Amino acid sequence: MADKYTQLVNQGVGKSVARKLGLPQPAILRRYRPGSPLVPGPVVVLGDSPASDKLAAELLSWELDIRRHAVPREKLGAIILVLDNVQRPEDLGRPVLAAAASLRDLAPGARVLTVSRPAATAASPAIAAARQGIDGLLRSLAKELRAGATGNGILLADDVEATSPSALGAVRFFLSGRSAFVDGQFLTVSGQGGTLPPQADTPLAGKVAVVTGAARGIGADIARTLHRDGATLVVVDLPSAGDHLAAVANEVKGTALQLDITRDDAGQRMIDHAVQRHGRLDIVIHNAGITRDKLLANMDPARWDSVININIASQLRINEALLASKHFRSAPRIVSVASTSGIAGNRGQTNYAASKGGVMGMVRATASLMAGNGGSINAVAPGFIETEMTSRIPLALRETARRLNSLKQGGQPVDVAEAIAFLASDAAAGINGEVLRVCGQNLVGA
Ligand code: NAD
Repeated sequence: MADKYTQLVNQGVGKSVARKLGLPQPAILRRYRPGSPLVPGPVVVLGDSPASDKLAAELLSWELDIRRHAVPREKLGAIILVLDNVQRPEDLGRPVLAAAASLRDLAPGARVLTVSRPAATAASPAIAAARQGIDGLLRSLAKELRAGATGNGILLADDVEATSPSALGAVRFFLSGRSAFVDGQFLTVSGQGGTLPPQADTPLAGKVAVVTGAARGIGADIARTLHRDGATLVVVDLPSAGDHLAAVANEVKGTALQLDITRDDAGQRMIDHAVQRHGRLDIVIHNAGITRDKLLANMDPARWDSVININIASQLRINEALLASKHFRSAPRIVSVASTSGIAGNRGQTNYAASKGGVMGMVRATASLMAGNGGSINAVAPGFIETEMTSRIPLALRETARRLNSLKQGGQPVDVAEAIAFLASDAAAGINGEVLRVCGQNLVGA
């Protein structure tokens, strides 16, 4: 649920007072509901490359209302700008300005999506300049959008087509309410692999997933979301959180495993439990994490070591067991929870940021080890999310932190869970070693 201020300024008197006083007016975000329309109106696909034609044809088969040119004053659900073949910065003007003409017609909760290629692999400085220009343009445009609309980009590696399974999976994720709190971000599709689910609403049907730190907060919502998407769940947390863990396990019709993830045998215990109780293991979500904040000048070994041990060292140990196991070889997926603190840094969080930076480094370096079995490993980096962890931040600081992003509100645990559920699905198999921020486009830091 939206925070109290967001609810207030979206109702009767509160709405008009906020407008008159020029106060921030965060929108109620469009979140995913099974069976609800993918987008809140027609989708305009702009661009003149063969890829744009193919993508438009594919989206038509999803029974979306597709336009190749905007009709003035028609409320739009999304604008997709296909810019995969730009050769020089001058090529950006025409398609971008065509999109500009429709921006005022975007419906609340609409999406703007770019589809382009990474600058790093460009064959010439002019191509690299054009491609990198899309990065700056999209991140700026995302800051201009209103009413819960978001802007994100898909980067296709040079040998990946716009209609490859994971490119289409990413398009679906970004268009849908699943990406409500993902804004101003790029996601790279590096492989042609992947399969789109036969049923879009149950992409994890038949999969068995382990979620750590699932007794409460983000972890509990990850368990609920994976269950909703069709997975069978093993929920893991400390024995001291046993009652809450049992309640979550009952809710998601899964099984509970009381386990301290820092134990040397934690990985093997997870594998054994999943295989013995559910016959297989397909997905592991490393969510358990702690903060022990102190300025570095006041840091003590206990605070430093516990954060490093729980947040990253245990993940490395568990992954070793997973990679060595014959039970984790059929398109296995790992998704880790990092943090924007590990990207931008955060005062008082050197230990935490080191651990979360570590998660991102680990994910990038483990990608090639997972790819062999058609597997993948990715991370999600949440910004400010409304949980018990953030409710302990002093009020003034908390209020500032939750407003300082393009959507002017904190994210909900389910927003992180939706990104994880997507990355854990076979539709995302061509996305490997990536970090996706779920932060509403934080304005401070990275
Ligand atoms: P939380 O404190 O509400 O929940 C964390 C869970 O992990 C708890 O149930 C806890 O018992 C469990 N846990 C801790 N140590 C464990 C261990 N050794 N073994 C097994 N379980 C253990 O936290 P949250 O806000 O839900 O955060 C979940 C993840 O998201 C963490 O990795 C956190 O760093 C990350 N994150 C949170 C935010 C935010 O704004 N809340 C932002 C960025 C990243």
